[in-house]
Amino acid sequence: MSANIKHWKISVLAALGLFLLSMAAGGFAEVTPPEKSLGFRVGADYHLATYDQAVAYFKVLEGESAKLKVFEMGKTGMGRTMIYAVIASENTMKNLDRYREITQKLAVVEGLTDEQARKLAAEGKAIVWIDVGIHASECAPAQHALQLAYDLITADDADTRLILENTILVLVFANPDGMQLVADWYHPNIGTPFETSSMPYLYNRYAGHDDNRDSYMNNLVETQNITRLLNRVWYPVVLYDHHQSAPFPARIWIPPAAEPTNPNLHPLFIRGKNLIGSAMGYAFDQEGKDGAISRFAFDFIYPGYEDSFGDFFHIISIMTETALYSYATPRFYTVRDFPEDYRDLTPSVFYPSPWKGGWWRLRDAVDYCLTASKAVLHTSALYREAFLYGKYRMGKDTAARFAKEPPYAWIIPREQWDAPTAALLVDRLLLQGIKVFRAEKPFTADGVSYPAGTWVIPMNQPFALFVKAVFEEQAYPDLTKYPDLWQGIVQPQQFQNAYLPPYDLAGWSLPYQMGVKAVRVDTPLAATLAEIKRADLEGGAAAGGGSFWLISTQANNGFTAVNRILKKGGEVTRARESFSLNGKTWPAGTFAVRAGSVTREYMAGLAGELSLEIAAGEMPASAKTVKLKTPRIALYKSWRASMDEGWTRWILEQYEFPYANITSAEVRAGALRAKFDVLIIPSMSADAIVNGFAPGTMPPNYVGGISDAGVMNIKAFVREGGTLITLNSGCLFAIDRLGLPAGDALRSFRGSTGGPFGDAGARPAAPEFVCPGSILRMMFNPAHPVAYGMPEKGAGVFYNSPAFQLYPGGGEGGKGGEVIASYPDDSLLISGYLKGEKYLKNRVAAAAFPMDKGKVVLLGFGVQNRAQPYGTFKLLFNAIWY
Ligand SMILES: [Zn+2]
Repeated sequence: MSANIKHWKISVLAALGLFLLSMAAGGFAEVTPPEKSLGFRVGADYHLATYDQAVAYFKVLEGESAKLKVFEMGKTGMGRTMIYAVIASENTMKNLDRYREITQKLAVVEGLTDEQARKLAAEGKAIVWIDVGIHASECAPAQHALQLAYDLITADDADTRLILENTILVLVFANPDGMQLVADWYHPNIGTPFETSSMPYLYNRYAGHDDNRDSYMNNLVETQNITRLLNRVWYPVVLYDHHQSAPFPARIWIPPAAEPTNPNLHPLFIRGKNLIGSAMGYAFDQEGKDGAISRFAFDFIYPGYEDSFGDFFHIISIMTETALYSYATPRFYTVRDFPEDYRDLTPSVFYPSPWKGGWWRLRDAVDYCLTASKAVLHTSALYREAFLYGKYRMGKDTAARFAKEPPYAWIIPREQWDAPTAALLVDRLLLQGIKVFRAEKPFTADGVSYPAGTWVIPMNQPFALFVKAVFEEQAYPDLTKYPDLWQGIVQPQQFQNAYLPPYDLAGWSLPYQMGVKAVRVDTPLAATLAEIKRADLEGGAAAGGGSFWLISTQANNGFTAVNRILKKGGEVTRARESFSLNGKTWPAGTFAVRAGSVTREYMAGLAGELSLEIAAGEMPASAKTVKLKTPRIALYKSWRASMDEGWTRWILEQYEFPYANITSAEVRAGALRAKFDVLIIPSMSADAIVNGFAPGTMPPNYVGGISDAGVMNIKAFVREGGTLITLNSGCLFAIDRLGLPAGDALRSFRGSTGGPFGDAGARPAAPEFVCPGSILRMMFNPAHPVAYGMPEKGAGVFYNSPAFQLYPGGGEGGKGGEVIASYPDDSLLISGYLKGEKYLKNRVAAAAFPMDKGKVVLLGFGVQNRAQPYGTFKLLFNAIWY
């Protein structure tokens, strides 16, 4: 009792103090509600707040409330400044650095005893990360952020006080470019026939929807900004990423997730997700918001999502999918619109309050987002201490586990096929908060000797499960093996067919994708190690003389070097056969830069910047070479916006290939050969390329594809000496429309390969061939100019890919295809899932077809899928110079 009285006295004094403080600061200034700043209520029909408006509003709030602060977190792909807001009680806001320090210590584990960790957990605040708008056409989440911030800093109910006292909200706009673009696209279309038409360009400069598939790779600046903030600045206990495509007619998808589960997660994370999801469900039904569903469709076996990669960094990462119609346009639904299974409104364990239909407005979606965000904050407040201590526990358990069981470490040798790309992988791991070391002395691991300088990732570190999850081969589980565990409740129709597709890729192992050698260590490691902060790879231009500078064709960075040299006016030739120099064999494809055409200093600078070894020497007079010139590259850009086009653009820019985008109208206009040497068609359907958007579905400027006239113009372009390169499924366009002597061996299974999104309903019973995004063994033909610099045996990403049968002769031009890459005759699967291997065995994965004066190059797998398979980018680069 006395303690209570004392507490009461302190509260009164504190309240009085606050009162005096606020009087001193100019009285009870009114906090501006969002509708006053925007001119409309958040979520109002036909109104979307732009990113600029959101930033302006958060700046207003920052000026009016001590509970909110705005921070900058770097630039977007289009150059906007990314902002985020931090919201907590006024007292907490005064000590943000202390609370950050507490979660950092708990996350990093090192140097803490259990007792110290418990004390820190008792003192700390639950830092909760909520991000909005990563998928910008899913509008409600970014809109709800404005209302959420206002509600939290102005409400004075017990729940809000509990939240503000116990949590620190880090509220992040994950895709500012998209938020602006979508609003700017939608508003002029309101009241026209195109009000709900889809946006004809990507809502992330390069990645579009794939901006949520980049988290383990960090190619995009937005992802890098987010990763830095998550793993270097805030170390949240919970991450909540909002999405908006609930399985219809559910109004929101909430955790628990669908199977399968990633095997590299600490069980507490899965429990944490389920706990928060259940609390959300409780909140929805308590507020009479029907239609929250769980366990359906969305699994998190894939660690590349923003909302799954955090798990490996001891952040309980969850996402939801609120129901979406289109932008801010309302829609009325009746039960007759529902799929048949949902029409009788039967409640079930994971869908206990079926939605009955009615109006669905943006504001409804905003309200669902608000309930969900507040439930996440509320649960985090209640579990504050447990979540903080749990964060430490996870890290400690993980580090302890790999101190006594394999893998004890991963080794990244310096001796690599493409050393700068290996260094890139090391740098990306460092960015993510993984500790990487270099060996100070030679050492032995699993009986193999390694020199000093070798990169080592010891697994007795708190975030080791991330390394395991992205380095090892994935064995995607077969649902039929675990009927008692998984009960077939997830997607029963697929359970019956003995195949449960993942929502995204089934295999993603980064060392295979990147062509980087990484060695798992299965016995305890004894080595003298020093931690590094960046990959310490240094290139060098050899001293000594000669008429040529020789650049290996194995490293991707070699292509950057050549592009720079050509731009500077240097002379570059490429060896067409292997040759020997000073006892070393240089393979076909080696770049030879005429020494007089660039200075030694310039070459030394390039070697240093790009971590390249550049040799000086003579080329044998007999060496056959071909002179390179900067090709005029056209990259086809459909109004049916293609992520693959965006990623291709990203890669061309990274490796400094100049290019121009061309639209369907430009292809229809013809005379392509006069303007371009190379035309690249990204992975997209022939229908999208040829027909584009149907008339009446889009404003007239965006209607139509290249049409038959465009097909004729592309044929003419090739016949007149151009090179057409088609990527992955884009190859089917070339086969079908250009009359190449080739067929697709998988044609009869198309639509059944388990694509990630949108074709879930199209699966036939018990498909004979299934490969839902996996890494397969491949054989390359390095004697072919398109495979220069490739190993004879390697790996490639199969992702909704064709597989070619080549016919002798035939077709226009009469010449058969040349094999660039093919599938071996056995053991195709490296990582992921493959059923029906026989359909792929010995099939061709990439081929070139001479056609009159030009060529068509089919790169029929994911050579640059999401800009992740660095190991096969060279096929694209070589094809450009073929
Ligand atoms: Zn989404």
